[in-house]
Amino acid sequence: MDLAAVGTDVERVIVTEEQLRSKVAELAARIDVDYKDRDLLLVGVLKGAIMAMADLTRAMQRHIDMDWMAVSSYGSGTKSSGVVRILKDLDRDITGRNILIVEDIVDSGLTLSWLRANLMSRGAASVEILAILRKPEAAKVEVECKYVGFDIPTDFVVGYGLDFNEKYRNLSFVGVLAKHMYS
Ligand code: 5GP
Repeated sequence: MDLAAVGTDVERVIVTEEQLRSKVAELAARIDVDYKDRDLLLVGVLKGAIMAMADLTRAMQRHIDMDWMAVSSYGSGTKSSGVVRILKDLDRDITGRNILIVEDIVDSGLTLSWLRANLMSRGAASVEILAILRKPEAAKVEVECKYVGFDIPTDFVVGYGLDFNEKYRNLSFVGVLAKHMYS
């Protein structure tokens, strides 16, 4: 879905479809090199990471395993609650696996630092993070992302997997949700 289809719901475009495409291809190539000759399990965080996971894995030139987790951190509002709950867990044992968490956005970093610790505690050999978007707040917490697509302002954004009340995930770009949509 493009900008014209959402009218004034979206205030401005932050990352275009082309920028997403070339960045994802660049990250995929880096991952191919970094994990050369190593097993790799990509863990997508539902539902926001679906687009990134689909594009990233198709741009990679190697075999990978894919699994998914769903965690809740936001409810239906626009601020992180800090409370993380597992809504859907991994399907398999991850002992000794090299894991790359694929996440749509890192904001406060609470979700990802919790998730990394959780996966490490299950005996993974390594747990790294890829975030397509990163907000400035994320720099304040101890969550090191090995791969970051774009650093963006603090505004609430939608598109490329990111929703507001389950809408806008299928926007082909990332844009700032207009304030009148939630205030
Ligand atoms: P954190 O725990 O880092 O504050 O938040 C991470 C989660 O909050 C993300 O996975 C995402 O679901 C949600 N989130 C954070 N910022 C935004 C935003 O600007 N837009 C949307 N749609 N979700 C966000």
